[in-house]
Amino acid sequence: MPTYEYRCDGCGHEFELFQQMSAPVKKKCPDCTKLKLKRLIGTGSAVMFKGSGFYETDYRSDSYKKAAKAEKESSKPKEKKTESKKTSSSNGKKPKS
Ligand SMILES: [Zn+2]
Repeated sequence: MPTYEYRCDGCGHEFELFQQMSAPVKKKCPDCTKLKLKRLIGTGSAVMFKGSGFYETDYRSDSYKKAAKAEKESSKPKEKKTESKKTSSSNGKKPKS
């Protein structure tokens, strides 16, 4: 389902809406309930929105994969280290009190 961008001419409210291509254009603003909504997509901004959206998803998935991989790789030895470190330090290696 495509995302449509709407803007209300009445109050300036902007929002995105998931709609089916065959769904009628929304007219009523959810904010001020006036029939002043305008669908921004289809006027040229659609290409920009689509492009940036695609890029964002692509970028996110890539960095997400990297982060997930790094986390996976470092979680195994790190867990042990931090755990033993934590226990030893929280056990009171330095008897201050
Ligand atoms: Zn409005």
